[in-house]
Amino acid sequence: MARLLDRLARELHARRSVILCYHGVGDTGGSIDPGFLRVRPDVFRAQLGLLLRAGFEFVTVSELAERSAEATSSGLAALTFDDGMEDNYSVVLPILAEHGLPATIYVATGLIGKPNPWMPAEAGARMMNEREIREIAAAGFEIGAHTVTHPDLSQLDRESCLEEMLQSRLVLEEMTDGAVRTFAYPFCRYGPAAVAAAREAGFSTAVTCEGRGGSDAYELERSLITGKDGLPIFLLKLTDWYQPLFESSPIRLMRAATRPVRDSRRARVERRRGRGPR
Ligand SMILES: [Zn+2]
Repeated sequence: MARLLDRLARELHARRSVILCYHGVGDTGGSIDPGFLRVRPDVFRAQLGLLLRAGFEFVTVSELAERSAEATSSGLAALTFDDGMEDNYSVVLPILAEHGLPATIYVATGLIGKPNPWMPAEAGARMMNEREIREIAAAGFEIGAHTVTHPDLSQLDRESCLEEMLQSRLVLEEMTDGAVRTFAYPFCRYGPAAVAAAREAGFSTAVTCEGRGGSDAYELERSLITGKDGLPIFLLKLTDWYQPLFESSPIRLMRAATRPVRDSRRARVERRRGRGPR
């Protein structure tokens, strides 16, 4: 199996570049992280190992977009983390530093230093504070904006989208003393107003996920990786095949059959925190 996965990863490397969407790395499942937003450190290392052995070159989102615009590129991988969770500093940074790899971290500025709203209180999880954000920026991670209040931008007009984008951008630029050039749509959701606002706010790229978007600079697609993904599913998610498969009828039937269980689990979490992340 390991050899087959390595071969498939090499084929993927020859064919395309990939942007991965994570939230955090750490213990997951159970009462700590029922939404599986985190990937276990050993699993994260295995995923990195697979991509490194296949020859992927790790870059930030901005670099990937620049190099893709210059030529038809393949073999680039951009790791992204949404929301600004504390483990991005305490777990992700040291693991990536071992290999000298960069990442792009999308921070929702209204959450900085606060308890993590997507984890149950007993998990004791929080979001990165200002010092931690400055340190990861100084270490070479790219900092991207992810709004102030994490709203669903597909429901807002252009003016409100622009305000969320500009405010979060300015706060992060001041904090890190650097340019913030990339933006992630909260919940990966957006409409024409949000896309227009992202251009107007001065970003050079904006990213989405969950089957939305493509290669347009303001609708860049990402593969959403969760704590439930084994290595084969991880690899499948990086291909073009995952979303069509996921939406094909046998799998939809299977998902429909297991929905009551998943819904009740999700409802428990969402009652505590209001709404889901991304
Ligand atoms: Zn988010």
